[in-house]
Amino acid sequence: MSTQNRLIAGNWKMNCLGADAVTLARGITEKAAGAAPPCDVAVCPPFTALHAVAAVLDGSPVALGGQDCHEAASGAFTGSVSPAMLVDVGCRYAIVGHSERRQDLGETNAMVLGKAAGAIGAGLVPIICVGETLEERGDGRANEVVSAQIAGSVPPEGGMVVVAYEPVWAIGTGKTASLDDIAGMHDHIRLQLARVRDDGADIPIQYGGSAKPENAAQILSIENVGGLLVGGASLEAGSFWEIVQAA
Ligand code: PEP
Repeated sequence: MSTQNRLIAGNWKMNCLGADAVTLARGITEKAAGAAPPCDVAVCPPFTALHAVAAVLDGSPVALGGQDCHEAASGAFTGSVSPAMLVDVGCRYAIVGHSERRQDLGETNAMVLGKAAGAIGAGLVPIICVGETLEERGDGRANEVVSAQIAGSVPPEGGMVVVAYEPVWAIGTGKTASLDDIAGMHDHIRLQLARVRDDGADIPIQYGGSAKPENAAQILSIENVGGLLVGGASLEAGSFWEIVQAA
């Protein structure tokens, strides 16, 4: 059983104009001021709101993360944001390889590996997302797919990483994976991580996919679940903080 700190991270996706992001961040910091979080906490706003949210989070226990990064430190990559830029604006984390990017933008394991390595090189902690589609699970290939994602997109060495297991069919659908499925896959991921990295036993493995206040405590009670990556329920300060307090 690993002893790592749990991480509850909110993925705001492509939501919140600047003023909304500031209001949401203020709501979260007010909750944090009232009750110190029992775990590591981060929010990942869209790039356009990072600067404003960083100012709100300053001095609070809530860390900042980006939702993606380029693998390079700088250069001719129009529209991209480098890991160093995320650090510059105050980020500690960068989500990489989210299934919405793997599926919609064709991100491969090799691309995710580059982003994760770039993030580590800049001093960020990458949150590396993995997870199978419903079809892959139906075909009995969930473990195989996730093993390949870990082997191909988790850097074998370097600073701390977080892995997020997010079954694609559970993201934004209201369908949560069963507790048995989560337990089985997290045990499997733990074994795969031990093959890839020396610190594989200590890497936090988050679950993501329709996590909410009602199911957070049960999911977090599963061995090898080291936190949650929360989408929809992180867009409301009250529900996000209820999830944090379940950790
Ligand atoms: C996510 O997109 O990372 C996620 C877990 O979303 P949701 O909680 O809305 O399913």
